[in-house]
Amino acid sequence: MAVAIGVDLGGSHVTAALVSDEGIIHAQHELDITDRSFDAVIASVSLVIHGAMKETKEKIVAIGVGSPGNIEARSGSVLYSPNFGWENAPLGERLRAAFNLPVFVGNDARCATLGEYEHGIGRGTKDFALLTLGTGVGGGIVAGGRLVLGNRYGAGEIGHHQIRPTDGFVCGCGKIGCLEAQASGTGLIRHAFAVAPSFPRSALLDVPREKLGSKKIRKAAQAGDLHAMTAWKNFCSDLAIGLANIVAFTNPQVIALGGGVSTAGDFLLDSVRPRVDELTTMVPKGTTQIVAATLGNDAGQVGAATMAFRGGLQA
Ligand SMILES: [Zn+2]
Repeated sequence: MAVAIGVDLGGSHVTAALVSDEGIIHAQHELDITDRSFDAVIASVSLVIHGAMKETKEKIVAIGVGSPGNIEARSGSVLYSPNFGWENAPLGERLRAAFNLPVFVGNDARCATLGEYEHGIGRGTKDFALLTLGTGVGGGIVAGGRLVLGNRYGAGEIGHHQIRPTDGFVCGCGKIGCLEAQASGTGLIRHAFAVAPSFPRSALLDVPREKLGSKKIRKAAQAGDLHAMTAWKNFCSDLAIGLANIVAFTNPQVIALGGGVSTAGDFLLDSVRPRVDELTTMVPKGTTQIVAATLGNDAGQVGAATMAFRGGLQA
């Protein structure tokens, strides 16, 4: 069995997994990230990698790291990451020196896309897209069997295409009405606040804002709460615009929805599919399936390890 280390680096925690070439996770080590300075993050990443390495006697082929930000593929340097406040951070170089193994670094959402494409719901397709609906919206596109990276590793930033540039919410990137602002878990909460004046007797938002999760709103919508149902409808309507745009751009065989909001399953899929069909005009209707992703939180680690086996995201 060939094994690689797949690391999923996020803003609040880092996980390293020992992954076989069949995409099976054999061990996982996780740490919280409290200090986002480059040296502190390198120390945490190194600790979880050591932890995962100790779990096997097999030779480790390579290390793959999925990190937020715009990443230069050859060196593995994080050119720019707003999440960490880094610029030109030599992540790949530092880990290569520490572990004396090949190290590949890629954007975390692109890695998750590769994971779902090779070992999850995208398996067997040639044209695929992943959209993760969590605190933000991450994504990636596979076209003609290749993960699309773009001219400067910027392709696949689906979360930051604007769908409501005049009347939308302000996005973390500074623009108005990006798909991420409208159709992430955070977006669902914002929709609930936006329609709250129409529901003066609603108790939906009677908790401190920092304790309000998108899951509460979704569950209330499923239970028939009118306020929550209105927020959910607006959320799904915005998500459908984004999905129909992806259909128009690449007409993938499958678009998979991952991330926390996607755990709603059919309640989400049944709400968006008909609207995507309505918004699909020049592309033959029904030729892109919208389904739930299958790897869950493991997609990032499996994808990072897949990148390590391949010798890069696209190789
Ligand atoms: Zn944005």
